[in-house]
Amino acid sequence: MKKIQMVDLMSQYQDIKPAIDSVIVSILESAQFINGPEVKSFQSEMEDYLGVKHVIPCANGTDALQIALMALGLKPGDEVITPSFTYIATTEVMALLGLKPIFVEVDRDTFCIAPDSIEAAISSKTKAIVPVHLYGQAANMDAIMAIAKKYDLFVIEDNAQAIGSDYSHENGKTTKTGTIGDIGCTSFFPSKNLGCYGDGGAICTNNDELADKMRMIANHGQSKRYYHDVVGCNSRLDSIQAAVLRIKLRKLDGYIDARRKVADHYDNFFANIPGIKTPVRTEYSRHVFHQYTLTFEGIDRDELNQFLADRDVPSMIYYPVPAHKQKMFESFGSGETELPITDWLTHRVMSLPIHTEMEQDQLDYICSSIEEFLKIKASE
Ligand SMILES: *Cc1c(COP(=O)(O)O)cnc(C)c1O
Repeated sequence: MKKIQMVDLMSQYQDIKPAIDSVIVSILESAQFINGPEVKSFQSEMEDYLGVKHVIPCANGTDALQIALMALGLKPGDEVITPSFTYIATTEVMALLGLKPIFVEVDRDTFCIAPDSIEAAISSKTKAIVPVHLYGQAANMDAIMAIAKKYDLFVIEDNAQAIGSDYSHENGKTTKTGTIGDIGCTSFFPSKNLGCYGDGGAICTNNDELADKMRMIANHGQSKRYYHDVVGCNSRLDSIQAAVLRIKLRKLDGYIDARRKVADHYDNFFANIPGIKTPVRTEYSRHVFHQYTLTFEGIDRDELNQFLADRDVPSMIYYPVPAHKQKMFESFGSGETELPITDWLTHRVMSLPIHTEMEQDQLDYICSSIEEFLKIKASE
């Protein structure tokens, strides 16, 4: 059996090695490392794939979120509503820009921001909502967009974990996640569902004005060479990463199918085991399983985590500390925020290995290891 990893990037590379190696060599020989034709081509192929007007490639997913927030013309102290149960990048950029993150609850079943919790947190200073499509499943966007419309708020989707996921609207239309709100942000970090071989990210929008602004911000606020109209930053996707992403974008739907097959296998295995809750799949979202995350009740998750590690089965806790309890936000007084569902999940979730190259013997070994743990516990 091959060594089990959370993500097996080496095996995936072996499958596309000839195409990757030859395009990287051709970029080395062209010496167009920045703003080369590969970046332009990737941008337009990504626009086609997502069915969105503008894709703006940038340096990473965190920059994508920062640039999106910078484009909204917000003032220091303005409030942005966000889940606490997310990766730190989502909320960190708010603090960096002098905005106030308002942490709200997630839904216990979907792990995504709870619409009723959003509405309860709205104040006169609220300007935007940042839902996160956590683990690869979309937040309830119809409900979120209705709230945004009612209170005139911007919506920025953190799509770093759900690229390629389809959202089915109440009106029967289907759109890609990241293209529903005003702006969508994604990351091409190597372990993401569409990952490059370094850092990378992108922003997308159907709004021409926001697109122009974000392009300018990502390029030192420049309107014309050496003319800088607004304070911006330097955030670029390089040619080698764009070339890698072009090859992998063509495989993305196949990669998603492979992940969903692994998830189906796990779902079947854990279906009738008391105390283990498999990921809930909503009607409105096609889950792309960036993570396969179980919720444990009455089973000691940390003990299982260690038991698996002793058998060379990796498992991860995303995330052990929610944003509102991070030291980083102490000065925001967010420690006093009470988010019981978030806290409850923080102590009970655990993610199992899932990637595009998983083999049957690996899946069997992971499942039987968990079964063994449960047998030992039952006999104690
Ligand atoms: C990975 C990730 C990011 C940040 O992306 P980077 O490319 O690492 O900067 C932001 N939000 C979420 C939910 C993520 O998973």
